[in-house]
Amino acid sequence: MRVARGSGTPAICHCDSCVRAQRHFGVEATQAEGVAVYQTTPDRFVIDAGAGHLGLARLSPKGSYRWYAKCCGTQLGVSSTTPRFAFFSPVQSIFETTDALGPIRTHAHVPQPGGGLKHTRLTPAIVGLMARSLSALTSGRWRQTPFFDIETRQPVAEVEILPKDAGRG
Ligand SMILES: [Zn+2]
Repeated sequence: MRVARGSGTPAICHCDSCVRAQRHFGVEATQAEGVAVYQTTPDRFVIDAGAGHLGLARLSPKGSYRWYAKCCGTQLGVSSTTPRFAFFSPVQSIFETTDALGPIRTHAHVPQPGGGLKHTRLTPAIVGLMARSLSALTSGRWRQTPFFDIETRQPVAEVEILPKDAGRG
């Protein structure tokens, strides 16, 4: 992962899907704590070896693309479902150190006492995400992705839909 200043936004997602996915792939997670991610573009994610071991899972037929390493069953992160929307959000648990990612100010889908969800500093994160994706589209960098075959625009791994109870309980 190549991380430079301004290359992404560190955030914590408290949504049910992110928590379930982490648990399904063997990382303890709770909705209160959420899952730390780093929103960036796929061209910054370079797989040095073992690209053939990429697995692709969805929690539901329309769920996000959740990439994992088949060899060790580790979740890598979430991508968009089309390469032209350059978005990849690795889970921070795969980083040896998260110092370079910067402080986390964004929280998404935080469950509130008494029900409902709240976001903190979500707008700057979305603006950053859209700006990075647009810049990747206009510069052609969207083509540099380990997750899609650029000719066919199809994901490099077969989609597998996880069981309904994956990561629950
Ligand atoms: Zn989430």
